[in-house]
Amino acid sequence: MGVSSFNQMKKEIPISTDIKANAFVHCVANAITSNIPKSAHQGEWEVVVFDSAQINAFALPGGKIGVYTGILNVTENQHQLAAIIGHEVGHVLEHHSNERLSANKLSTIGLTVATIALGASDIDDKGLWIAGLGIGVQYGVIMPYSRSHESEADIVGQNLMARSGFNPKASIKLWQNMSKLSKDASPEFMSTHPSHKTRIEQLGKHLTISLPYYLAKKNLTEKNKENLPQCIKPEVIPQPKLQIKSKSK
Ligand SMILES: [Zn+2]
Repeated sequence: MGVSSFNQMKKEIPISTDIKANAFVHCVANAITSNIPKSAHQGEWEVVVFDSAQINAFALPGGKIGVYTGILNVTENQHQLAAIIGHEVGHVLEHHSNERLSANKLSTIGLTVATIALGASDIDDKGLWIAGLGIGVQYGVIMPYSRSHESEADIVGQNLMARSGFNPKASIKLWQNMSKLSKDASPEFMSTHPSHKTRIEQLGKHLTISLPYYLAKKNLTEKNKENLPQCIKPEVIPQPKLQIKSKSK
C-alpha cells in the first residue's frame, strides 16, 4: 500500500526537475538509505522531490521517500535534512503505520473516506491507509503520530543520521526551527509530527548515544581516506509549481 500510494502521489503532485535541489536531496537520502538494514527493505530506495510549497516529507514502507521542496527552505543544511529523513525512515523501521492501522482509532479521525481519491478503487479503506501512512496531509486527512511514535522515530532517526555521517546535533536545531515556524504558519509536517516540548530535551539527551556513532563514522572515513557526505544545499530553491492551497478546508 505504501508503494501504491507513492505511485499515486507521483501522478498527482508535480515532481521537481531542478537539478541542484534533486542532487541535494538524493545526496542526503542515499547516504542514509545505504545504512538502512536490508531486512527493512530489500531493493533500492526510491527518492522523489515533489515540487510543492508544502513543508513536508515522508517515508513509506516499500522503500519510498518523498521530500517536498517547501521543506528545503526550512532545513538549513545537509545535517538538518538528514534529521528529517532519518526521522521519517525511523517511523518505517519501527512499523508505525501498521500500528496506527491496527490501533483501530480510525473512527475518531472523522475522515470522509469517500472524498479521498487514491487510485485503484478496489482497495477498501483508502482513507484509513493514507492516514496510517502519515501522508494524509496531501488529501486533507491528518492523523498525527502519537507521542511514543514520535519519540521512537526521533531516537532511531538520530542514530541513523549519525551512522550515515551527519552531525546528530543538527536534529535539535531543526526541531527548534520547526517549532518557531509553527507559531506563525502551520507547516504540514508539524500536523502529522506534533512537537512536544519533551522532544528537543530527549534529542539532546540522546546525543550521548548518537554522537559517538557520528565520530566513529568520521574516524573510519578519515582512515580510509574517504569523505563524510558533502551534500550542498542550493542557494536558491526554485519557486514550487504547487503552491499551498487555502487551509480553510
Ligand atoms: Zn514523526
